[in-house]
Amino acid sequence: ASTSTSSHYPEIMQKLRDIFRLEAFRKNQLEAITAALEGKDVFILMPTGGGKSLCFQLPAVCDGGKTRGVTVVVSPLLALMKDQVDSLRRKKIDAHLSIQDTAAEDWPRLIQNSQKPRLWYLTPEKLRESNTVHSILGALKGSGHLARFVIDEAHCISTWGQEFREAYTTLGELRKRYPGIPIMALTATANQRTVADIVSQLHLSNDHVSLAQSFNRTNLKYVVRPKTKDLLGQICDFIQSYHRGQAGVIYCSTRATTEEVAKSLRSRGLQAAHFHAGVDTQLKEVTVNRWQSGTVPIIVATIAFGMGIDKPDVRFVVHYDMPKSISGYYQETGRAGRDGAPADCLLYYSFQDLKKAIRMINLNDEATKESKKKQEEAVREVYQYCQNDSECRRVQILHYFDEKFDKKDCKRGCDVCEADRETTSEDVTASAKATIQLVQLLVRERKERIPLGPLKAILRGSKSQEVRNKQHDQLPYHGVCAHMHVDLIDRMLEQLGLRNVIVNVRVKNGAGFHSDYLDLGPGAQDILDGREKVIVKWHPKPKA
Ligand code: ADP
Ligand code: ZN
Repeated sequence: ASTSTSSHYPEIMQKLRDIFRLEAFRKNQLEAITAALEGKDVFILMPTGGGKSLCFQLPAVCDGGKTRGVTVVVSPLLALMKDQVDSLRRKKIDAHLSIQDTAAEDWPRLIQNSQKPRLWYLTPEKLRESNTVHSILGALKGSGHLARFVIDEAHCISTWGQEFREAYTTLGELRKRYPGIPIMALTATANQRTVADIVSQLHLSNDHVSLAQSFNRTNLKYVVRPKTKDLLGQICDFIQSYHRGQAGVIYCSTRATTEEVAKSLRSRGLQAAHFHAGVDTQLKEVTVNRWQSGTVPIIVATIAFGMGIDKPDVRFVVHYDMPKSISGYYQETGRAGRDGAPADCLLYYSFQDLKKAIRMINLNDEATKESKKKQEEAVREVYQYCQNDSECRRVQILHYFDEKFDKKDCKRGCDVCEADRETTSEDVTASAKATIQLVQLLVRERKERIPLGPLKAILRGSKSQEVRNKQHDQLPYHGVCAHMHVDLIDRMLEQLGLRNVIVNVRVKNGAGFHSDYLDLGPGAQDILDGREKVIVKWHPKPKA
């Protein structure tokens, strides 16, 4: 669509400044708004924080569009709708949210009054179940007062996605039921298959305007680091050195951790508060307000924090624990730098994190076997992302969204591109074979129970008391990996774990405690028989 030459342009710019108090448009916003005012169907794919709301809120307050009247917004989350309605009302825009059945109090205002609301927010369930809603919509259309339908989080209509929502399927009937009323669909998460699904299910017209934006967040820097002993000290240093007094979020995997970490940060002189689903509602509100106003700049939270939170100047997001999926990681880091200024995303991970996450997934009795498998795959994907420090982080993340990215455009915006290190692939098949044989000997033949730590000690040829007590220094494989750098041994063991060559077995002892022991998994035989190799990527370091 021609934008600045469009006859709607002067009104659009005036509303942008006078009502929304903004200077300029972000990518694709003007295109979306112009197309909407021309009465076209519009599909918008824009990352979280990209500015989707303006794309339908601004046309809703314009009077010069092809279709005029009430803009009907369908959104899945009540809390988000409330926030939007509040924020619109602060701008003196008449927005209306239907929670209770609208009949009695709203009917006249919506249909007969000349003063109709500009935007009417509805849940998909309401649109499916309420006849009153449809009578109102019918009457609005009849009198030429139904401007357009806006479907927010449109990916919920697709059964391909993880967030499929039953009530969204009825949105497919809007086109037939209200012919001629334009539809705008918006989403932040959709690969090509989902996009096609959304367009076809909503019956968007063939000449609809499709605005897809790259998922690349150019102002975010992605850094991944293995966890070290003094993790808190490192995080403190990072904040003190680069983000003193600035707003940030630290994500942890459990409620208890958020409390511990917040407390430790406070004891080190940083202002931090914790947030998780178990915090009582009032305190939650206080915490969020303090954070949003900048009084307490650091919030330590579980992923319960973030949905619907809109703070433009978040300068860092730290993952204290490994996230559960790439898309979750993208959403969580996406809360940084919404104002477009540079922000840091720092992720800490460990093999323990992976094991812990998988254990938690399998402890959930409510999940189906299939969903557990999916979740486990998602966590393994994150672990692979963390481990892969030879490919630009952006290339890896964007690949997840089916987007091709040239790493030269990363511009040192990730730890991999910044370091630009030489990575080496090392064939460790022989050592892996010896490791498998060692486990076989200990576990299968001698019926011993061996955890990971002691196994590593044997491989490295340790002469510690513990090793000698068990006469493990007499084993034929004692010291078989002594020539290798300890990092390389770790990479090898991690890969053997990931490939189910060596697996963890949980054993409950008499006192009711669990311990982890190793055993051989289904992947072991292929390596023993020489059918498969074990090649690990790492950055060679001199052996200490
Ligand atoms: P999304 O729904 O895509 O996640 P929002 O619509 O909530 O994003 O917008 C994210 C933030 O960007 C909000 O703080 C919003 O005020 C701001 N924003 C949107 N458009 C612009 C713009 N053109 N200029 C400056 N800020 C904008
Ligand atoms: Zn990069």
